[in-house]
Amino acid sequence: MSATPPATLGPDATIGILGGGQLGRMLALAAARLGLKCHVLCPDPLSSAFDVVRRVTEADYSDHAALDRFAADVDVITYEFENVPAETALFLAARKPVLPDPGVLATTQDRLAEKAFVTGLDIGTAGFVAIAASGDLAAALDVVGRPAVLKTRRFGYDGKGQVTIRDGVDPLAAWNAIGGQPAILEAFVPFEREISVIAARERGGAVACFDVTENEHRDHILKTSRAPAAISPAIADEAERIATRIADAFDYVGVLAVEMFVAKDGAGHALLVNEIAPRVHNSGHWTIDAASVSQFEQHIRAIAGWPLARPIRRGRVTMTNLLGAEIETYRAALDEPGTAVHLYGKAGVREGRKMGHVTRVLPER
Ligand code: AMP
Repeated sequence: MSATPPATLGPDATIGILGGGQLGRMLALAAARLGLKCHVLCPDPLSSAFDVVRRVTEADYSDHAALDRFAADVDVITYEFENVPAETALFLAARKPVLPDPGVLATTQDRLAEKAFVTGLDIGTAGFVAIAASGDLAAALDVVGRPAVLKTRRFGYDGKGQVTIRDGVDPLAAWNAIGGQPAILEAFVPFEREISVIAARERGGAVACFDVTENEHRDHILKTSRAPAAISPAIADEAERIATRIADAFDYVGVLAVEMFVAKDGAGHALLVNEIAPRVHNSGHWTIDAASVSQFEQHIRAIAGWPLARPIRRGRVTMTNLLGAEIETYRAALDEPGTAVHLYGKAGVREGRKMGHVTRVLPER
């Protein structure tokens, strides 16, 4: 538990953000629109969020003196990435309210704990088995079958730390490829599509979901998100119910994203939760240009103790990430009708790095 937040923050309050990537940057821009100030703490001197905030602290997450000064300067603290070290979150939570509560991190930083949490709520996931050592693999493969996906329990993102074990793949090679760390072995889901729900929950417990988004990944990295997803209203309702149940179970405050697979199940469909992100999420970027309120503003409102907005989508929308060298294509989108271009101001272009995104909005059919 963290320090008790004040009932509501005034518009002159300062929000502390851990992490200086594009998510922190877009959170800060949304806060600024509401008159709130932001202070970003990040070890990277070239942090994209540093360009748009009132104060920055360039320091390691273990630098207690810097954390102390940061906490003293802000009214509430939030984070833009889920791998905030537990020790950092606890240190800060003893000084200022940290929202969402750091307890959420312990679950979402560990794929095994996360899967156990989700299945404990009676929500479906891919079949999985915990792998503590390479000797566990053979029996686990017998349970989940091939293909299977071996994923590190911790620090996996954008496909890092995961290997698919198909027919003919040596499980030991897969184990070595993920660095021989504690892992889970998941059944491979032959999904029809991937979707996500971006849900916001306010302190009083009210939840507002954005319309369900459909996501396409390329090399495990999100490439395109579309809203609304091409799913039936019944599946969309079920997806929102699942996200709401998860947010309620955490007594969550802020925005969270729940990624799900839509898989064929007999004559119908099943929803299987793949991952929970306790933060604003790439698949919600479309909300900046194509909804009456963005995921970033919803998060700021929730942690500031303000009421959530009830978002309305403004059309059919596609968000395309500009990854690595694709950033150079942004100029072509600048004068396309119905198109918004977002550049994150990052200095170094690396393959797969999220450099910006383009949102295209079309009228509802
Ligand atoms: P993750 O890091 O767990 O979000 O996985 C990244 C991407 O890999 C997902 O968005 C899917 O496209 C794919 N993936 C992960 N787990 C599975 C699975 N069990 N079955 C099929 N595809 C998967």
